[in-house]
Amino acid sequence: VRAVVFREPGRVEVDDVREPELVDPRDAIVRVSLSAICGSDLHFLHAKAPLEPGETMGHEAVGLVERVGAGVKSVSPGERVVVAFNIACGACWFCERGQSQLCEEARVLGAGLFGGSLGGAQAELVRIPNADVNLLPVPRDIDDERAIFVGDVLSSGYHAAEIASIRPGETVAIVGAGPVGNLVAQAALLHGPSEVIAIDLEPGRLALAADAGAVPVNAAQRNPQTAVFERTGGRGADVVIEAVGTLAAFERALDVVRRGGRVVVVGVYASEVFPAQLGVWWARALDVRFTGLCPVHGVWRRAMTEVARGRIDPLPLVSHRLGLEEAPKGYELFDRREASKVLLRP
Ligand SMILES: [Zn+2]
Ligand SMILES: [Zn+2]
Repeated sequence: VRAVVFREPGRVEVDDVREPELVDPRDAIVRVSLSAICGSDLHFLHAKAPLEPGETMGHEAVGLVERVGAGVKSVSPGERVVVAFNIACGACWFCERGQSQLCEEARVLGAGLFGGSLGGAQAELVRIPNADVNLLPVPRDIDDERAIFVGDVLSSGYHAAEIASIRPGETVAIVGAGPVGNLVAQAALLHGPSEVIAIDLEPGRLALAADAGAVPVNAAQRNPQTAVFERTGGRGADVVIEAVGTLAAFERALDVVRRGGRVVVVGVYASEVFPAQLGVWWARALDVRFTGLCPVHGVWRRAMTEVARGRIDPLPLVSHRLGLEEAPKGYELFDRREASKVLLRP
């Protein structure tokens, strides 16, 4: 079967790979109808995260269940499903408490040895372990292009807004208006804030955030701290959600939050080191929360419902629709930041 494979740092190809098989009675094989390229795939492309040449890539997919093992109860062949980007056991201490991102046996599709040596989702067929836990049926009225977001980016944004404990009338600022920031903004608006302010440098992203109902602030044109303070009686935002994952973005989040406010960090960090003057954080009574990866299994049903109701719509974020064979071009566009979301259709 055809799949996107890692060749060497900076180069992916579409090639024939061995067809995935059921190896455990709880497995399912999904015939992928749509997959996508995600920001974290770029870490593999550039070998910032290790992948062996020839290993397959991708962790976002929607498709039809092709075959299931004898132990699978909740999905059956022919059913349309979305795949969880993070493959959990569903039964450990953390999974039982809704924190599946901390699962004792957490694995990730298309992440090589580091992700548990599962095949990637940018392929015609993909094996999903613990299918009862890691596949969610897609309602008939939600198309593939919307549903695919529920397996990762949309649920991540939805979860960040949820753990921010936004109260009606509060002001929410979002640092970063990329796909996650945009979906955070849409989800935050469901909690009844007085307004959601989206801070970014790129006019295109800000325009999409404004379409979604946020107040855009272009940090290339004006000081975002001044802009946020002007709108909040000089105090700063009650809640700031950082959706970038850089030290500059984290610092900006601290700059625009009010005393006693909450900072939620959904941006992804690895080895960055940040100097914090704890006395300042303590005196400001800051509440800083890190989401970690999204505990998608505890979130995606609610997220899917919001998509079905049309209260969150990821579709405007799709910039490119390519065939699976054009994946290398998709990676290039995405890597050059010329694409916000690239969908690949096998
Ligand atoms: Zn992803
Ligand atoms: Zn678990």
